Amino acid sequence: MAQSDVIVLGAGMVGTSTALALQQRGRNVLLLDRRPAGRETSYGNAGLIQIEAALPMEMPRALSELWRIARKQGNDINWHLNAMPEHASALLRYWLASSPARLREIGKTWSQLTWRAGDDHAPLIAAAGADHLIRKGGFRIGFSTEAAFDRSTREAQSFAAEYGRGLRLLDGDTLAAEEPALTRPFVGALQWTDTWACRNPGALVAAYAALFEARGGQFEMSEVKSITPTAHGWSVQVDGARHEAPEIVIAAGPWSARLVAPLGYRVQILRKRGYHRHFQGGTPLNMMFSHAESRSVVVPMEQGNRVLTGAEIARENAPPTPVQLDRAEAAARTYMNLGSAVENMPWYGNRPCMPDMLPLAGKASRHNGLWLHFGHGHQGFTLGPTTSAVLADQMTTGVAAFPALSPARLGL
Ligand SMILES: Cc1cc2nc3c(=O)[nH]c(=O)nc-3n(C[C@H](O)[C@H](O)[C@H](O)COP(=O)(O)OP(=O)(O)OC[C@H]3O[C@@H](n4cnc5c(N)ncnc54)[C@H](O)[C@@H]3O)c2cc1C
Repeated sequence: MAQSDVIVLGAGMVGTSTALALQQRGRNVLLLDRRPAGRETSYGNAGLIQIEAALPMEMPRALSELWRIARKQGNDINWHLNAMPEHASALLRYWLASSPARLREIGKTWSQLTWRAGDDHAPLIAAAGADHLIRKGGFRIGFSTEAAFDRSTREAQSFAAEYGRGLRLLDGDTLAAEEPALTRPFVGALQWTDTWACRNPGALVAAYAALFEARGGQFEMSEVKSITPTAHGWSVQVDGARHEAPEIVIAAGPWSARLVAPLGYRVQILRKRGYHRHFQGGTPLNMMFSHAESRSVVVPMEQGNRVLTGAEIARENAPPTPVQLDRAEAAARTYMNLGSAVENMPWYGNRPCMPDMLPLAGKASRHNGLWLHFGHGHQGFTLGPTTSAVLADQMTTGVAAFPALSPARLGL
């Protein structure tokens, strides 16, 4: 049995950053994960530190979009009828939260959090010796039709002005010159310039975990079986051992709801599944490229060009149905030399999304010493260090700088 001040459960970007933030504030932290750090959702993402994302990913509400989604025709969204019963209530709440008025309200918190994300990552990247994994300069969205380019340019310019985010417009020739990997002409592109890209997201989390250990923190690879309150705090049962601490942080991403359910917390998490696959032997991109019309996304990674998908609503243990990935690969092959697939089977994992799009970072309402830190949705890789600083400040000073992240708002 080991003694620590705080046990952090989950060593993805969110849990590892939490452990570092608490350690920096003088806490003796035990970080637990059943796998090495950064091997799950925090491995499989697009690796963007999305400083440009002033708003979270809302649910489309336009009738034309809903009709397109209903017919499952895009690369961005897929769904399975048998997954609807378990997700219906969360989807309804997500729909309500996506109204323009609610989204604007949520954006007041979200835009502040993403704006400081680079500043919160920067000292960790430097201390972890991970500068080689980071590329600054943003990402691009390319357009094949004048109409879509003009409409998106107007919307992007208004968004950039309202939230103070960096935007660059490229004509087709400039795009071709700056991204020679593209093999066919485009009308133009938008480049969100503030955002950083990581060439190996799992490796960055592993570097953060190594930093935590180098600074004296303890990381243990164990599967957590149960969490129970004790007279003095919390007891965590792992295979063949028990750990105790006065406080515990649940940062287990999409698995968090299951871990706190026995304590009486019914957490609605919308699991938005995403897929990726690497390709080698083609021409590497200089930066992430998204093709607007096909909604395909390709990101240059250490492992090759990574083709990613949008969201799929599937049952938790449903077998993979990577139809979006097949479409994205086919689309990407029309504009670049992708090469051949590295993996036999695509990777897939779940974005842990709260129905109101804001993560939880705060105290659980019915237990002392129980802190909830999950539900970062589409931007957990971006926001890990930021919401960790917010949470760690609250745990050590009692001041909650962002009350909108409180679990109490969802009755948790
Ligand atoms: C396709 C895709 C693209 C994305 N692109 C981006 C992007 O570009 N930028 C961005 O900011 N975000 C992106 N995201 C979202 C981002 O990846 C997630 O929000 C983030 O990784 C969540 O981190 P986490 O630490 O909460 O969860 P995870 O990384 O899943 O970590 C949770 C950890 O808990 C551990 N765990 C769970 N249960 C137990 C247990 N019982 N015992 C022990 N350990 C346990 C798991 O092993 C895991 O390591 C993307 C997601 C996907 C799927």
